[in-house]
Amino acid sequence: MTAPAARYESRWDAPHADGLSALDRLVYRSNLLGADRSLANWGGGNTSTKTLVTDHTGREGRALFVKASGTDLATIDRAGFAALRLDDLDLLFEREAMADAEMIDYLLRSALDPGQPRPSIETLLHAFIPAPEVDHTHPDAVIALTSAPCGSELAAEAFGADAIWIDYVRPGFRLARVVAQAVRSQPEARFVLLEKHGLVTWGGTSEESYRATLDAVQRALDALAAVAPIEPLGALAVPPFPPEAREPALMELLPRLRGRISRERHHVLEVDTSQAALDFVGRERTRELSQVGAACPDHLVNTKAKPLFLTDAALEEQLDAFESWYRNYYEANLDDESRPFPIDPTGPRVVLAPGLGLITSGTNAARARISNDLYQRAMAVIQLAGGAGGFTSLSEPEAFAIEYWPLERYKLTLAPPPRELEGRIALVTGAASGIGRAIAERLAAEGAHVAIADIDAAGAGDLAAVLCERYGVRRAQAVDMDVTDEKSVAQAFRSTVLAWGGVDIVVSNAGVAVSAPVEETTREVWDRNFDVLVRGYFLVAAQSIEIMRRQGIGGSIVFVGSKNALAAGRNAAAYSAAKAAELHLARCLAEEAGPAGIRINSVNPDAVLRGSAIWNSEWRAERAKAYGISEEKLEDYYRDRTTLRVAVYPEDVAEAGTRPTTWRCCAAGAMRLSRSARTSTARRRRSSSGRARSRASQRRSRSVRPCAAPVVAA
Ligand code: ZN
Repeated sequence: MTAPAARYESRWDAPHADGLSALDRLVYRSNLLGADRSLANWGGGNTSTKTLVTDHTGREGRALFVKASGTDLATIDRAGFAALRLDDLDLLFEREAMADAEMIDYLLRSALDPGQPRPSIETLLHAFIPAPEVDHTHPDAVIALTSAPCGSELAAEAFGADAIWIDYVRPGFRLARVVAQAVRSQPEARFVLLEKHGLVTWGGTSEESYRATLDAVQRALDALAAVAPIEPLGALAVPPFPPEAREPALMELLPRLRGRISRERHHVLEVDTSQAALDFVGRERTRELSQVGAACPDHLVNTKAKPLFLTDAALEEQLDAFESWYRNYYEANLDDESRPFPIDPTGPRVVLAPGLGLITSGTNAARARISNDLYQRAMAVIQLAGGAGGFTSLSEPEAFAIEYWPLERYKLTLAPPPRELEGRIALVTGAASGIGRAIAERLAAEGAHVAIADIDAAGAGDLAAVLCERYGVRRAQAVDMDVTDEKSVAQAFRSTVLAWGGVDIVVSNAGVAVSAPVEETTREVWDRNFDVLVRGYFLVAAQSIEIMRRQGIGGSIVFVGSKNALAAGRNAAAYSAAKAAELHLARCLAEEAGPAGIRINSVNPDAVLRGSAIWNSEWRAERAKAYGISEEKLEDYYRDRTTLRVAVYPEDVAEAGTRPTTWRCCAAGAMRLSRSARTSTARRRRSSSGRARSRASQRRSRSVRPCAAPVVAA
């Protein structure tokens, strides 16, 4: 495996850039740098420009626009920059030292706009360098060069007086001052190389600063290539498993791994089986080099200082060893600064599985993806540095001082607060329309990752796309599933496990309904109802329970039943009998799976017409005929036979399906209402029938008692 060769060519579009304001040009330059992850890792690096602005008093003054904390260069826009009064910042250069909290307070008070985001923790590095444009990045080649044991000699050879070498110092006031003093005392220098960290460049113009970054990275890469052996990671020791062997192995590994990692807080996984990942994890020296430490301080919060490298030993033992290392690392390095921060979940964020790929974890799919993005950078750095004679990293105390640094922890607080089902994985059958769709939407809104299982592949694909657009990358996935076919059910669960590592919530909702008098109920009709509603629910539940048991963190299975499971339905013997069998199946399985913490509940809705594929079929006409009314009167008929006199909508069932222990529907359609449901019911009534009726309904709803015999199996 050789180090990747690259040429860093300028992509600067001068006619475009010349027409931009100073801030827009900074946005343009930042996006160009961020577009190449070998230059700027996800969320890492920062850029700035110094320019004149007119403040709220109408006076003109010097300002520093600098990237805000927690933003990403690839996608940053104007709102991602903070503007500070440069005259205020200049005063700090005379100071000898400044504590982090005092520095942050000072920066916030120097803001030009009180509502702007918090500026980067490396702001003073930008302010103190005497140039209009400054870029600080974490390029793979520069980190590799500055992490190699002979890095400073190689750098001296490659850069001469063009570059200044700065030994490792944690970012903050001291690093900013050390760098600026060095730059001011060596005005002929063009670059600063930060040991085990990255690069600083500057220029009189935006293009000059951008080109200086490319120039420095190219020179670092050439210096590494000049000394690189052919195979820095050694020969391929474990070749990639062929896909037909890889999938069963991952099905065995992922739920156990995820379950263990999720004991403290639910996580989802991402498996990278790209050629590059498979090649990296399978090399002779990968284990040794991967355990040296993080490739960049900026990775630590998302990757931990080292990954778990899987061997043939028992998985539990390997995870025990990893967790115990992490706990010791935390306890040994805890000091007054880090003490306010509790230990992170102790499981690995990155797992290297020879033959299988690179596995990352996060509290949601986006965070698992960030860990993957950052470990891609680590893989490149380890290969490049390995080629230059070795790879060294921050010491454990240095790594800890970054990982639990209050300023680094601050970035984590910028994420939206976790929702109720954050980190959960759900699978909903018959999810492309009607009740299933409403449940899938509701689960996604609560933070779950949702497999949209349906025989309607196009409908499932459309909904998955909508949910990803609404909630973010990899939040939903369409899976083909015919619930009557054992192979199809197994394949759908396999896709779900391979996508996120397991499953926590399964809503069995796929349905079929045929209404006919007994004389007209053919054997085919009978079998079809039992195939879908009994065998289908059994197959889905059996797969769910098997995976949930392997995870070992419990789970929830919900059967969307029917009022017909409990009450006789005229002209619906096959459907009603199948629904009754389905309900009893839930009760039996709940008895079996309960000791493993797996809850199995049934929700039994009555006549949910809106958006339903079943109610758009012949079932509607047949039911109207059975009751001797016209099809148009069906909704009124069903509404009026409920105790509450409300129509039941898919969203109501979704509420019940996602909270099966707090909601119960009974055969008569009367529901025990949660406060939110009461509110939405009242709102619905007000909009349709006026306030007087709404008050009456609310009185009625308060008088509704929980069903005497709740249709809940566990
Ligand atoms: Zn940095």
